[in-house]
Amino acid sequence: MADLTGHCLCGQVRYRAAGPVIQANHCHCESCRRATSSPVTSFFTVRADDAELAGASLAFYQSSPRHRRGFCSHCGSPMSYESENRPGELDLYLVTLDDPSGVRVTAHDHWEERVSWLDIVDDLEKREG
Ligand SMILES: [Zn+2]
Ligand SMILES: [Zn+2]
Repeated sequence: MADLTGHCLCGQVRYRAAGPVIQANHCHCESCRRATSSPVTSFFTVRADDAELAGASLAFYQSSPRHRRGFCSHCGSPMSYESENRPGELDLYLVTLDDPSGVRVTAHDHWEERVSWLDIVDDLEKREG
């Protein structure tokens, strides 16, 4: 697999991930919704050891005691998510990829928290929590 590369809106934060992709999913949880000001957030997950996320403007927000979110402090783009519930894994926001079509999403998470006015009619697995 070719390395997955991506960047924030201004380009100051960049990453390179060797893969493999552990999972890719849409998240409907309220925390992701508020962190991105968007109804759905799409992630892909790699081993943290396989990825390099860097840039002078990379900053982190501790969104809850066991979770932190990386973002670009210059342009504000959300970049990463890490959970102590899944040590060693790094979630990257899928649409920050240079080629977002290069990773295919396979499931919806926190389906029970989705906003009521968003009509989703795909065949992907819908998981609660
Ligand atoms: Zn930026
Ligand atoms: Zn979420």
